[in-house]
Amino acid sequence: MERFKEKLKNRDISPTLIRLKILEYLENNTDHPGVDTVYRDLKEELPVLSKTSVYNTLNLFAEKGLAMKLTVSEGLAGFDSNPDPHFHFVCDICGIVYDLDIMPSFFRKKDIEGHAIDSIQGYFRGQCRNCRESEK
Ligand SMILES: [Zn+2]
Ligand SMILES: [Zn+2]
Repeated sequence: MERFKEKLKNRDISPTLIRLKILEYLENNTDHPGVDTVYRDLKEELPVLSKTSVYNTLNLFAEKGLAMKLTVSEGLAGFDSNPDPHFHFVCDICGIVYDLDIMPSFFRKKDIEGHAIDSIQGYFRGQCRNCRESEK
């Protein structure tokens, strides 16, 4: 918990219990959970939790650079505890978003053909390994 407290303080976020729990959850669940998933998994442990507070907390983390907000499909945002640019794989069957361990050279560039790059969101889509396995 101390580690999470430090992380929040470093970003000028006051470390409330809800924020600490959501940060911990996000770091333990790297499958890019959305507001509904975080709320569902934490509401028993935190009875004071509301969907609005989850939504606000996750957006605050994204704003402060503690997490990255991914808009994978219309109206569906997932949150990533890794704010550094990286590519994702989206499964069209189960909808899970995976991190891909690839680093194309243009990730390190600050500009491409004269355009200044602030963030990169790239997706690969298809059938994930788990779905392919269960189809066999
Ligand atoms: Zn899948
Ligand atoms: Zn990711």
